Amino acid sequence: MREPHLDSNPPILDALGRPLRSVRISVTDRCNLRCQYCMPEEDYAWLPRKEVLSFEEIAQLADLFIDFGVRKIRLTGGEPLLRHNLPELVRLLAAGGRLQELALTTNGLLLARFARDLRDAGLQRINVSLDTLQSERFFALTKTRSHAAVLEGLNAAREAGFINIKVNSVIVRHFNDDEVADLVAFGRRESAEVRFIEYMDVGGATRWSMDQVVPAAEIVARVEKHFGPASTEPAPAGAPAQRFRLADGTVFGVIASTTQPFCKSCDRGRLTLDGVWFQCLYATRGINLKALLRGGASREVIANTVARAWQARTDRGAEWRRQLPERGVLFPVAELRKDPHREMHTRGG
Ligand code: SAM
Ligand code: SF4
Ligand code: SF4
Repeated sequence: MREPHLDSNPPILDALGRPLRSVRISVTDRCNLRCQYCMPEEDYAWLPRKEVLSFEEIAQLADLFIDFGVRKIRLTGGEPLLRHNLPELVRLLAAGGRLQELALTTNGLLLARFARDLRDAGLQRINVSLDTLQSERFFALTKTRSHAAVLEGLNAAREAGFINIKVNSVIVRHFNDDEVADLVAFGRRESAEVRFIEYMDVGGATRWSMDQVVPAAEIVARVEKHFGPASTEPAPAGAPAQRFRLADGTVFGVIASTTQPFCKSCDRGRLTLDGVWFQCLYATRGINLKALLRGGASREVIANTVARAWQARTDRGAEWRRQLPERGVLFPVAELRKDPHREMHTRGG
């Protein structure tokens, strides 16, 4: 990758002064797991294939975001490695050399097959989601018997040369909260930084309830009980994770999205696989950029649309949710079926 031209494009600011720095792109709504906190239903309404952005269309929009000062793109889904020929998209996005970070979040199942190609194509960072070290528990959580494949995927990523691999673990009370210390030890063994994520009431989490959320403070206390005191580590601006260091040097992170949301510094937008631009994970409406793109709108018109929307942005979804006197699921199943854009796996987690 070439050196990014950091000075040439100052970021646009939203109505609360937050820059647009990072974009998550969902490349597919399909998934080969059925994590109970994300896709617990039997059936889903999938977006029609003809609506899905081509790699060239994604690259066009990415280029426009980069002009607005975006420096970080993360490919996600659904399970992004189910998208045919994903390394080719990585190659297209990396080609401009204008990004500081090109990253992928994956459940790891297909990583052993694709890690090398992704690395060669210019992918810089990988986050692998893994919530348990127990294969029977993995089956209960995901409805598939593929725990070993995730571990193989992690190994393959390391062997392909990825460094600073992160392992994302959603902690759910009475499900895997007893594995917090084991997961930290696993991260240490695997040279990966484990990041615990609070269970969020995002679209799709139709089994969510507040009593299943294990607050970040409790997660840290569980780690400290086992390993001794943890000191805080500096984190880059806009980064969602609070980071901690144990006496032996092991670093772990906690993402307190539910109990201590970080909306104040949120610099990220989201693009769905069919080109809808969302400015918050919790937003009920997005802007259809694909309609503009396929309708022949000029780059300037699309850029102005994005700029105007971002400049008017006041979203603080997780903070608003936290202020609710009673908190239940965000969208009932019937609403998700009517509009799959409300699903986390469509808009990109
Ligand atoms: N399939 C890929 C994966 O699982 O890594 C990428 C998409 S997934 C939606 C992205 C991240 O969102 C994963 O780390 C997953 O654990 C997290 N996630 C999904 N539902 C969540 C929820 N209800 N609360 C917190 N995190 C969630
Ligand atoms: Fe699939 Fe990722 Fe959601 Fe699990 S968290 S169901 S792997 S999209
Ligand atoms: Fe950003 Fe919305 Fe998440 Fe808050 S809830 S951190 S504004 S995406």
